[in-house]
Amino acid sequence: MNPDPSASVQRDSDGRLRHLITLEGMSRDEIVALLDLAQFYVREPGDLPARDQSLAGQTVANLFFEPSTRTRVSFELAAQRLGAEVVNLDMHSSSRVKGETVLDTIYTLQAMRADILVMRDAEPGLPAYVARFVAPHVSILNAGEAHLSHPTQGLLDALTVRQTKGDFTKLRVLIAGDISHSRVARSAWQVFKSLGVAELRIAAPADLMPNKNEFAGARRFENIDDAIRGADVVMALRIQRERIRGAQMPDETSYHRTFGINAQRLKLAAPGAIVMHPGPMNRDVEISSEVADGPQSVIQRQVANGVAVRMAVLATIARNVQARRHFQ
Ligand code: ASP
Repeated sequence: MNPDPSASVQRDSDGRLRHLITLEGMSRDEIVALLDLAQFYVREPGDLPARDQSLAGQTVANLFFEPSTRTRVSFELAAQRLGAEVVNLDMHSSSRVKGETVLDTIYTLQAMRADILVMRDAEPGLPAYVARFVAPHVSILNAGEAHLSHPTQGLLDALTVRQTKGDFTKLRVLIAGDISHSRVARSAWQVFKSLGVAELRIAAPADLMPNKNEFAGARRFENIDDAIRGADVVMALRIQRERIRGAQMPDETSYHRTFGINAQRLKLAAPGAIVMHPGPMNRDVEISSEVADGPQSVIQRQVANGVAVRMAVLATIARNVQARRHFQ
């Protein structure tokens, strides 16, 4: 039984990835292949970025109905560096505000021969819904779906851990913060589970802890000091204010004191532990500036890997769609 319908919607009838909507249901081999291709696109800081023509002649449209800096820009750069034409829709002035349905916006882009639509939206289920209606040459890439899924973030997190810590099966990974509202936490959990990490921990204040039926197999902590002890990877997450109503909203100063990742707490982690954050950071709330800018932080590396991972996903999807066309 497949618990997540998005996992089957994203494949063509031969089982190839045609859309990327969730990491749920992706095999270890499939993830490793994407990470290997992403690594091929990684360059040292200061070197010219990787480029090829995997997307020559194709058009990529970015549709972000929620704010984004890193994800939108990195999808744009990734597509350009693979030779695609890129359009960015300004969602505040798009026709959705005039009452047009998302599907009508999608059909409009499709009629203009957009091939890959990169979508971010606050509504759960939208990417999978749209994927059911698009023409055979069109792919949907999920760039952040409500609190549920952010697959390219999960992949870039995995790539960053692989580069800095190596063998996943020896690692204790901690995800700390507002787990309940975080799509980053869910995609990280899915990818680290597939890659076989030794131990996955989630830590959150009681109000921000997800339901018991989620994050199967993860160890749960409400005390950050207990959670961080011996961890090899510490991922700090922002409080998702935009998804929280009223009483659940913690006070920032007391949150930092009781739950923030600071230098003193980081000493409890394993020697050489890395610190991650998907951004945007709220400095001195979920993470202290000292830690964010400190020697154990790999936050800028995550950003750099974001472009490489998105190039790998775009190139893979384009190749799969081409392969299908050839055999039809
Ligand atoms: N940028 C990430 C996301 O879109 C993390 C965050 O917003 O806190 O989910």
